[in-house]
Amino acid sequence: METMPEPELIRTSVAVVGGGPVGLGLAVTLGQAGIPCVLLERCRDLSTIPKGQNLTARSLEHFYFWDCADELRAACLLPKGYPIGGITAYESLAGQYWYAPPGREAVGDFYFQRHERLPQYLTEAVLRSRIRALDSVAAMYGWSATEISHDDDGARITALADSGAARCVIEAEYVVGCDGAHSTVREQAGIACSGADFDQRMVLAVFRSRELQAGLERFPARTTYRVLHPDLKGYWWFFGRVDTTDTWFFHAPVPKGATTANLDTHAVIERAAGFPIACDFQHIGFWDLRVDIADTYRRGRVFIAGDAAHSHPPYGAFGLNTGLEDAVNLGWKLAAVLHGWGGPGLLDSYTEERRPIFVETGQAITDGIARDGDFLARYNPRRDRSEFEWAWGCLTSGETAPASYEPHYEGSSIVWGPAGSTCSVRGHHTFEAQPGHHLAPAVLSSGRNIFERLARTYTLVAVTEDRGPVTAFRQAARALRIPLRVVTDTGDSSAAAYGSRYILVRPDQYVAWTGRQRPTDTAGLLHRVAGQPS
Ligand SMILES: Cc1cc2nc3c(=O)[nH]c(=O)nc-3n(C[C@H](O)[C@H](O)[C@H](O)COP(=O)(O)OP(=O)(O)OC[C@H]3O[C@@H](n4cnc5c(N)ncnc54)[C@H](O)[C@@H]3O)c2cc1C
Repeated sequence: METMPEPELIRTSVAVVGGGPVGLGLAVTLGQAGIPCVLLERCRDLSTIPKGQNLTARSLEHFYFWDCADELRAACLLPKGYPIGGITAYESLAGQYWYAPPGREAVGDFYFQRHERLPQYLTEAVLRSRIRALDSVAAMYGWSATEISHDDDGARITALADSGAARCVIEAEYVVGCDGAHSTVREQAGIACSGADFDQRMVLAVFRSRELQAGLERFPARTTYRVLHPDLKGYWWFFGRVDTTDTWFFHAPVPKGATTANLDTHAVIERAAGFPIACDFQHIGFWDLRVDIADTYRRGRVFIAGDAAHSHPPYGAFGLNTGLEDAVNLGWKLAAVLHGWGGPGLLDSYTEERRPIFVETGQAITDGIARDGDFLARYNPRRDRSEFEWAWGCLTSGETAPASYEPHYEGSSIVWGPAGSTCSVRGHHTFEAQPGHHLAPAVLSSGRNIFERLARTYTLVAVTEDRGPVTAFRQAARALRIPLRVVTDTGDSSAAAYGSRYILVRPDQYVAWTGRQRPTDTAGLLHRVAGQPS
């Protein structure tokens, strides 16, 4: 009898399971920090479905710190400066009622980078290429993780090559499941999920059509087109541009049990468009709408991130962007712990900070579907035109979502924030530096943007000539082995808008602490922000 050869044994610090955008982003974060890391991805080739296209300005900041923002922009299919945003129409794209809600450019000044739009597979290609330049990352494409176990001493993963002929065992200090909504890592770690099943099937079609582009010329140039129709109960017919000539993706609610054999997708698209168009289909697929969230993002040495931790309908372009923030949040904390200056509190703070963000995001999406459904049930121009027009006007002027969506970690155990606050997406964008909030990008007296000076570890920004507290921070950081960069500014610059003389910035560009003078216990403050036991 032929015996299977002994599996190869690989030892590393972090094993990342799943090389979608979130796993790739995490591997880049760890690789840049010099942390040995193995990335296992089941697929050798990238999918060609153009989902996950809208990347927020915040996500572009991640690409800036991953040293590949220029490469990402070069990969975009849309011409430079093409307006990214949406049109909302009633009944169909040919309907009388429509408006262009404010897009994410409304908050653009609060971020160092501009938002972009490109198919997810191109984003993944940029990240795969970035990983090739990182010596401490070993990417294994075509390998699937099949068994994951962990105990106090470490974690162990068994992986099979796509042919099934080769097997390897990876021993790591930590495992991160970035393996998507049906996460094997989550399941084997025994992490339960809870959420809402909408009992709603969706179709996703990718097609080419020049007539669709021609029919949209009455609108200002935009990238997405959302149709609200009374029959859809708050779900959308949704068209997204892939390029500016003829390639589109479309998703729509369809009856339970719809398949390519029994659904006339072309008819659904024509109904949503409101005019006849020829479509050359490249892909038609289906999925079931759910909001799901893991009860915890960590169990012992196992973490989950991205769709493995949370998934929701693609309404509002939150999935990939939220996942990339997970990767950055977890990445710097794992690196800090593995480098020896991060304490156990850092790893615990990952669930504490990131889970509430998704809970509220998922709730906002669910509430939005219900709100649209109520609007469509209540107002109808065929029943009462003037009442509908009044309500449509309120809907149009009431859209403020991008301005009020400001994920923050006030209340986190590793942030020196106001008492009684909690991590939330509800905030407001401001240039004032606030503990727990994203730092706005000020131009310093040197003429450089603060984002060009921030370290990938902690940075103390001193907007004052008084250097006394800086010395205290430097000494305390050295004693605790916390890497700290100091950036000084005369205050004769837009950094004055921070409203504080001293700002301690985390490796993920969130503010940990602000003060007008030296903290009473500098070492205690650094203990806390590094998650070390006090
Ligand atoms: C129609 C549509 C439109 C969307 N639009 C947007 C948008 O505009 N903006 C936005 O932010 N989000 C959007 N999303 C959501 C976004 O696509 C997802 O949130 C994103 O793909 C999540 O990335 P991920 O890396 O967590 O998971 P995935 O992309 O699912 O990647 C998981 C990876 O893990 C691999 N894998 C799984 N199991 C294993 C295993 N056992 N071993 C090894 N590898 C494994 C898989 O092959 C896969 O490559 C959209 C989604 C859809 C469906």
